[in-house]
Amino acid sequence: MDFEPQPDLSAFDAAVIGCGVSGANIARRLSAYSIKTAILEKDSDVSFGTSKANSGIIHGGFHHNKKYLKSRLEMQGSMMFDQLRRELNFPFKRCGIIVAALHYDEMKVVEHLYLQGIQNDCIGIELCSRQRILELEPKLSYDVAGGLYAPGGGIVEPYRFVFALVESALKNGVSLFTDFKVSEACQSGDYWRIRAKDGREIKARYAINAAGLFADEVSKIFCAEDFTISARKGEYYLLDRLTKACPSRVVFPVPTAVSKGMLVIPTVEGTVLVGPTADDTEDKNNFSTTAKHLEQILVSGKKMIPFIRENDVITSFAGQRPCLGEDFYIEASKKARNFVQVAGIQSPGLTASPAIAEYVKNILVEMGLQLTEKPGWNPIVENHPKVREMSLNEHDSYIAKDPAWGNMVCRCENVSEAEIVQAVKLGHTTLDGVKYFTRAQMGRCQGGFCTYKIIKIIMREANLSWDEVTKHGAESRVLAAEKPELQYGGSL
Ligand SMILES: Cc1cc2nc3c(=O)[nH]c(=O)nc-3n(C[C@H](O)[C@H](O)[C@H](O)COP(=O)(O)OP(=O)(O)OC[C@H]3O[C@@H](n4cnc5c(N)ncnc54)[C@H](O)[C@@H]3O)c2cc1C
Repeated sequence: MDFEPQPDLSAFDAAVIGCGVSGANIARRLSAYSIKTAILEKDSDVSFGTSKANSGIIHGGFHHNKKYLKSRLEMQGSMMFDQLRRELNFPFKRCGIIVAALHYDEMKVVEHLYLQGIQNDCIGIELCSRQRILELEPKLSYDVAGGLYAPGGGIVEPYRFVFALVESALKNGVSLFTDFKVSEACQSGDYWRIRAKDGREIKARYAINAAGLFADEVSKIFCAEDFTISARKGEYYLLDRLTKACPSRVVFPVPTAVSKGMLVIPTVEGTVLVGPTADDTEDKNNFSTTAKHLEQILVSGKKMIPFIRENDVITSFAGQRPCLGEDFYIEASKKARNFVQVAGIQSPGLTASPAIAEYVKNILVEMGLQLTEKPGWNPIVENHPKVREMSLNEHDSYIAKDPAWGNMVCRCENVSEAEIVQAVKLGHTTLDGVKYFTRAQMGRCQGGFCTYKIIKIIMREANLSWDEVTKHGAESRVLAAEKPELQYGGSL
């Protein structure tokens, strides 16, 4: 299987524009039917947009009223994760969610969330006394007054979820076009002719706009509805896996009118996230983090879990929420024929994404797309072996087959050369792509020791020269000049 598609100028039945978690779920869902589907993604890899920089929470179903489509899709989506996890082998854990009230007067809001959860059929939701909430999460501050527990909530590695969905879609015949920035579209007979910035063109009968922050631009390109997506930035701190502040469940504060607040999140892989902030920004490409906001995050996190220490911080990052009103906007366009809008997918978009795909599939059927089940559709993506998950004996047996399993490239996260090779072979040929697939560069040293080794492996396996290796594609070249020891095939 190869992520890099050969140019295929034949006609498709459906083109999904954007390969974040929405587009990936839609494409994978359509791969179960005997139609030709293409994914068009402007970046060099998938999941490089909002879907890579979020809290990774599978929400508990109590934050929103069920009058909203997003709330209904959140509940349906959450319930689909166990089956998807069995099929696709991505990191996911239903660890449960806590909302911690730090003052008795916050309990009114907690009670409201509890009742909303009951109305939303949120299984097992509990209104908790101080004693019960401390029993559920002993690392909470002793100032806690009580709270809420939703056992159905969970955590996922969001980019690995998208990678697995795309791997499954490609195995089942979907074509992926990366570095394909949709820039022009026009109708020609029954088809949309869709052109990338670099002149490549495909044809598709139906087009689905899942372009996240840029769904407004794509809508204009198709002469469809005129709307504006605004960006709201969320900044995070990442704490090392050695921190004493790792809770066993996701810990939310009591939400405000504009956001769910700053949380403490145990990641599936054992690190801890603290954040996010919520600030409107003009620039959709602004992923900066600021000392002022990060200070706010620490203060707020420590109020809930006092074990949080600045010394445990290993990096910071930001994601941008694609804001468009209160709800998701998922509809057949009323202006452009055979065009579906999947816009304004802010939180809980990750949780809702499998249900978004089902919803979009039904819209396509109502619009006239005929779907017959594909014989031989295979939902399974095998688990890619990882040294950090192996016993010593297992590791020895892998090394006996291929010594690359014994060459540890990233010592912080225990990632071997064989795993980097696997990532590159699956099409993750940028430093960030390798990072999100393998976790190499994600540990305490943040790539300080392993980046040059990874560059060498990428050059060797993808047959790239030093000036073609990038951090995340396009203009993000990582080397300013050639160094002899980096030459193709050089030893590690
Ligand atoms: C700070 C933060 C925290 C969040 N936390 C959670 C959470 O814990 N749980 C949860 O459920 N949700 C959460 N969310 C929401 C969730 O991350 C989003 O709903 C989801 O990632 C949106 O996915 P998407 O596929 O719609 O958009 P994206 O991931 O942005 O994907 C859109 C894709 O379209 C591509 N694209 C854009 N323009 C073009 C073009 N012209 N041609 C081709 N491709 C194009 C982009 O490159 C991108 O890859 C959070 C969001 C943020 C920002």
